[in-house]
Amino acid sequence: MTEILLITGGGRGIGAATARLAVERGYGVCISYLSNHIAAQTLVSELQNLGGTALALQADVGVESEVVRLFEQLDAELGPLTALVNNAGILEQQMRLDQMDAARLHRVFTTNVVGSFLCAREAVKRMSTVHGGKGGAIVNVSSTASRLGAPGEYVDYAASKGAIDAFTLGLAKEVATEGIRVNGVRPGVIYTEIHASGGEPGRVDRVKSGVPMLRGGEPEEVAKAILWLLSAEASYTTGTLLDVSGGR
Ligand code: NAP
Repeated sequence: MTEILLITGGGRGIGAATARLAVERGYGVCISYLSNHIAAQTLVSELQNLGGTALALQADVGVESEVVRLFEQLDAELGPLTALVNNAGILEQQMRLDQMDAARLHRVFTTNVVGSFLCAREAVKRMSTVHGGKGGAIVNVSSTASRLGAPGEYVDYAASKGAIDAFTLGLAKEVATEGIRVNGVRPGVIYTEIHASGGEPGRVDRVKSGVPMLRGGEPEEVAKAILWLLSAEASYTTGTLLDVSGGR
């Protein structure tokens, strides 16, 4: 049986690296994206040229109707989902809490938390043996910010990832007898474009001296951890949060 994997926010960064590795390992892959159609389509063409099965679908993970449509389109185009990576995530301009307004908090929590919940819900409906499914695996992409707190930069983002950690532990137990494993990865500082959203594209190089391994991580290094957690090699692993952070 071909494994069918959905990676939210898969057009760029960690999601794109995960898509490349997944296709290499024989998964049929759907990547979702918010607005960067070109990045997503370019990646899909690259994956198809390698002989892989790949599809890109636009959907805002924070909008319930769009998530429902995303999963319905995926069902129709690729068949039954067996794996989900809740990877889509945002952070905003670095600032202290006393500068943050409610609109920002809603945006960050809607994408990072509500989005992951909605996508996991649709995945559980399809994978759980209680719903007639054949099981599957979910990996939530959290962050080391959930235990470091990101003071002076984005405590809102860090708190949203704390919610993802708790969600991972709870959902793993909720569906443990239904054929679904749920785990999290917590990347440290990884070279992607997300740091530009915080106003500091070069952030990884600024903070890397505080990483025990004295370097930032590559998206591919996170992708390998995600693929392991999805695979049968992790068959007895659920409710685990795996740090991929160079010791930080
Ligand atoms: P990135 O390069 O900025 O890519 C983010 C991806 O998420 C993009 O594909 C983007 O779509 C998508 N996205 C954003 N909002 C979305 C929405 N509302 N609905 C659907 N898709 C949405 O980020 P990254 O660094 O690869 O981060 C991936 C995950 O790793 C995030 O959850 C992030 O918090 C986590 N993480 C990253 C680091 C790091 O240092 N890079 C560290 C710890 C954790 P478009 O392409 O259409 O814009």
